[in-house]
Amino acid sequence: YKAKERGNNFQFYSSSLNGISVRKMELENGLRKALEFNQLMLYYQPQFSLTTGEIVGMEALIRWDHPEYGFVSPSEFIPLAEETGLIVPIGKWVLREACRQRKDWSKAGIADFPIAVNVSVRQFEDDHFIEYTAAVLEEIGLDAGLLELEITESIMQNLQRSSYILHQLERMGVLLSIDDFGTGYSSLSYLNRLPIHKIKIDKSFVQDVPFLVSQEMLVKTIIDMGLNLNYIVIAEGIETGHQLEFLRQNDCAVGQGYLFSKPLPADEIEMYLERNKSGIRF
Ligand code: C2E
Ligand code: MG
Ligand code: MG
Ligand code: MG
Repeated sequence: YKAKERGNNFQFYSSSLNGISVRKMELENGLRKALEFNQLMLYYQPQFSLTTGEIVGMEALIRWDHPEYGFVSPSEFIPLAEETGLIVPIGKWVLREACRQRKDWSKAGIADFPIAVNVSVRQFEDDHFIEYTAAVLEEIGLDAGLLELEITESIMQNLQRSSYILHQLERMGVLLSIDDFGTGYSSLSYLNRLPIHKIKIDKSFVQDVPFLVSQEMLVKTIIDMGLNLNYIVIAEGIETGHQLEFLRQNDCAVGQGYLFSKPLPADEIEMYLERNKSGIRF
């Protein structure tokens, strides 16, 4: 309707809009079949103690190998999955697959770091989320303390319900962390009342080190706040030695980023773990 009013611009507008929506539609349709056709997989990225260099965690990150488009970024298809509700079955698959992998690693004697799984709001608020999580742990026989759920600050928009869900999960023994900390809606007074174990400083802040003094102050402030409130503070997106130094000097406990390792498929992570059995040296 609006495009029509624009008269001469109509052609230009409609074709560029089509360009976007064709890909979107194809991805959306494809996503429905992606699970069925085994096009989804998990990659894993290690997290390191910035004091000892030991691996203290592993984040599972979804990958979609699309038959036409190749690898599609989760930043593109996760929002689509959220819009369509497909995030619920996809999220269930991710949770189960990550727990299965962690259990396999336990059986193989691979150290007891937890596996971190990203959970989007829609999935988190699903009526069956708590039940499903409990059922997966039970079925796989995984210690709840080896599962960490990463949620974002946006869950605070529905504080009462979120608080209930978080407390149930905490009672089960699952670890909870806030992802992309500092980018969302967050009330510190409420945060403090939620059973959160970890906060992850968003990579956009980390990556501005050392270029912006104001961002450095912000990172320092988040670390100090986290320490004072007894959270484990983890920095994501560490790419340079300089960023690492800065974080270590400011007592950031844990780090994750390309400097150490990109997210890798399970078999390559196993080789990485084998090569770095006693941690890495800074
Ligand atoms: P996130 O959870 O904040 O994950 C961190 C993202 O930063 C990942 O992108 C990771 O590959 C990337 N990354 C790690 N280290 C570096 C670095 O040093 N430099 C840079 N530039 N990037 C780094 P990825 O895998 O593309 O995932 C993007 C986002 O998609 C995730 O952000 C998360 O919000 C979402 N996502 C990924 N997997 C899942 C999933 O299984 N379920 C849900 N609901 N969301 C997921
Ligand atoms: Mg994450
Ligand atoms: Mg995220
Ligand atoms: Mg993040």
